[in-house]
Amino acid sequence: MSVSQLARSIKASPTLKLNETAAKLREKGEPVIHLGGGEPKGKAPLDAVLNCATQLSTGEIRYAPADGLPALKKAIIRYTEENYGRMVPPASVIVSSGAKQSIMTLLYAILEPKDEVVFPAPYWVSYPEMVRLAGGVPVPVLPEDGSFQPSVPDIADKVGSYTRAVILNSPNNPSGIMYSSDFVAEMVAFCEKKNVWLVMDDLYNRLVFDGRKAPNPYAFAKDRPDSSKLVVVQGVSKMYAMTGFRIGWAIANPEVVEAMTNIQSHQTSGPVTVSQWAAIGALSGVQTSIETLRLTLENQRNVMLERLRTIAGLRVTKPDGTFYCFPDVSAYGKDSQKLAELLLDRVRVVTVPGKEFGMEGHLRLSYCGTIKEIMDGVERIKWALDPSAPNELFVGDRKLVRDWA
Ligand code: PMP
Repeated sequence: MSVSQLARSIKASPTLKLNETAAKLREKGEPVIHLGGGEPKGKAPLDAVLNCATQLSTGEIRYAPADGLPALKKAIIRYTEENYGRMVPPASVIVSSGAKQSIMTLLYAILEPKDEVVFPAPYWVSYPEMVRLAGGVPVPVLPEDGSFQPSVPDIADKVGSYTRAVILNSPNNPSGIMYSSDFVAEMVAFCEKKNVWLVMDDLYNRLVFDGRKAPNPYAFAKDRPDSSKLVVVQGVSKMYAMTGFRIGWAIANPEVVEAMTNIQSHQTSGPVTVSQWAAIGALSGVQTSIETLRLTLENQRNVMLERLRTIAGLRVTKPDGTFYCFPDVSAYGKDSQKLAELLLDRVRVVTVPGKEFGMEGHLRLSYCGTIKEIMDGVERIKWALDPSAPNELFVGDRKLVRDWA
């Protein structure tokens, strides 16, 4: 069978693939600890479930408009006003099947063949593939100083006449780092001056720790909203622990939203109607679940950080938000793929190689599981990596014996 050149250029999502591997190993009774996951463990808010169930019980589930149900767009407009202080018209809102689809349709809507899209590394695994799918060229930017916080000159250096868009994801998957307010302000001004699109992937911006708050890009925007090239992407997946509902959205100027809607109308039509009702329930209901999740994650981050810091040679940057940590493991090998395979093979811990996020020598570890999973998982990693660790480790009733140097 021969598939297209485009298909050949696209890799499977490594994180989704890891979920499958972990599930298969678990089915076989293997004591797997999954530190590679990308979804919070909490339940969807009750208001979301009830709203969804009420609609479902009518048995009449019909197509929704391609840009989303008016009632959901209304809830998103309210959310945007409350959380970004920005009033937007319905024509500036598009609801998609996950934030992923919002980003994808946006790229289809704005990229000419071979246009470049610039984003800092480490980056979310899907950006390069999505840019390629839309016919563009991904241009990752590694911060000069070796940190996870890019500087404006780092980015400006890669922005040229072919650059169509910059994507920023803060707090960041995989590093957990939140970009500074000054950086966001300067990037908004820079992109306005250069007339390039600035996509703010804000999916994790409610999951921020240490009493901090994510910078609001609209606070720095000067361009008129009806022609602005600033796009904010959001969704219910992370903040409400509603990954399986597949609802995300973008706020953008009406012209590009119309183009995105046309594309979406031929691609998937409107997102699943009952999921949209669930999102309406989440956005309009009691909001305590976000804070509960945030506090839980902050505590889990602290536990993971404290444990990781007991592993000699590991360099750990404290995450400001999300549920990811991105330690530098290069003291144990530069090849992150090999290291991740070793950890899965020897101690049955799933991690994601840094290479997938554009930064070798690192591993992405998630702390969205239970405290026990975090503690046992890091304990196993420590045992596998540290040559001075005891020769044996008990995993449940199984004895692991170190048979490597
Ligand atoms: N952006 C980032 C940075 C993400 O990590 C994810 C999910 N892993 C998404 C977008 C897509 O989220 P969803 O499609 O579930 O809304």
